[in-house]
Amino acid sequence: MEDQNHKTDSALSVKSGIDQPPSVDPKAAQHFIRKRKSILPASEYINGILNGNRTLLSRAITLIESQRPDHANIAQEIITGCLPHSGDAIRIGITGVPGVGKSSFIEVLGGYLTRQGKKIAVLAIDPSSERSKGSILGDKTRMEQLSNDPNAFIRPSPAAGTLGGVARKTRETMILCEAAGFNVIFIETVGVGQSETAVHSMVDFFLLLMLAGAGDELQGIKRGIMEMADTIAITKADGNNVRASDLACMDYKNALHLFPPPESGWLPRVIPVSARENRGMDTLLDIFAEYFDHVNSNGFLKKRRMEQSRHWMFTTIQEQLLDGFYHDPIISKRIKEIEKRVMDGRMTSFQGAVRLIAEYRKGDQDQHGS
Ligand code: GDP
Repeated sequence: MEDQNHKTDSALSVKSGIDQPPSVDPKAAQHFIRKRKSILPASEYINGILNGNRTLLSRAITLIESQRPDHANIAQEIITGCLPHSGDAIRIGITGVPGVGKSSFIEVLGGYLTRQGKKIAVLAIDPSSERSKGSILGDKTRMEQLSNDPNAFIRPSPAAGTLGGVARKTRETMILCEAAGFNVIFIETVGVGQSETAVHSMVDFFLLLMLAGAGDELQGIKRGIMEMADTIAITKADGNNVRASDLACMDYKNALHLFPPPESGWLPRVIPVSARENRGMDTLLDIFAEYFDHVNSNGFLKKRRMEQSRHWMFTTIQEQLLDGFYHDPIISKRIKEIEKRVMDGRMTSFQGAVRLIAEYRKGDQDQHGS
């Protein structure tokens, strides 16, 4: 983060004794300055969001996603202003391996909801962009009908950062969307690793999409993820696939019986769905209604959200501490050297870590004069 700022600053400033590099185009610099100025006061974003202004909502989300510290400050102000107006939506997490049919499914289910007068937001957490620099969720044209639906708002995954950072930004985006009046939030992720846990920690209902007939059905997804599911939907239950889907439903129902009963007291359902033939959508909407009745009346929803807030506080502490550490100028200079010593066996891993942390703390103390 810091590094980026340094780069930006140095391109625009004149260092004493060094001529301004000719590559700095004054028009570009002017544009940059104008762009900086175009950030509005937080209250304008907040009012805009509360009035359902999608342009200001999008711009505020861009501030949340930005890596710049000044943007982070204003983003936090906006989130704080929106927080009292959030929380009324139902939050649905959707996961499944690439190709299981997530976007087709959300497109159809989303259409059902907007026709009922609901306003839906579709957000995503795509952990693949961090590792492969390419995204699994975002590369194709997705949800074309829903993108043109005035009652739907689709926002792809924040591209940069660690999974924890990306997930936090999605959670904060969700708060803004709720304040803007969206009453059903879908948070989508690919079933390829840790991101399901991140999604689970910010939604009320976790929907796992699975394919039938892909070899041994129970091999596809880790047990821990199945245990999180409030409902499993077997996708593409149409045409020649109907029988296999019904069999898969039976298998998963049996498998779920083996898990200990969830704390919510809700028994997870297993249903066949087809985005192509609109199958299972009404059933799923009934399941949502039944689930929310259940968790509202037994107090579980309130408890789950409270625990999620706590979880995010601690996750954010970790994320911020790590971020501060790795972007610290002293650490950036020293880390390679210590790393090399550890690899050469001149220091143990523990010693290396302790040394760096001590240098970081010392730098911090020097800076704050204590
Ligand atoms: P995602 O990667 O999980 O988002 O999956 P997509 O929604 O992009 O779907 C992957 C493929 O499955 C596409 O070729 C779809 O046309 C196909 N597909 C999606 N839903 C259905 C369905 O309900 N029935 C059938 N037969 N194919 C489907």
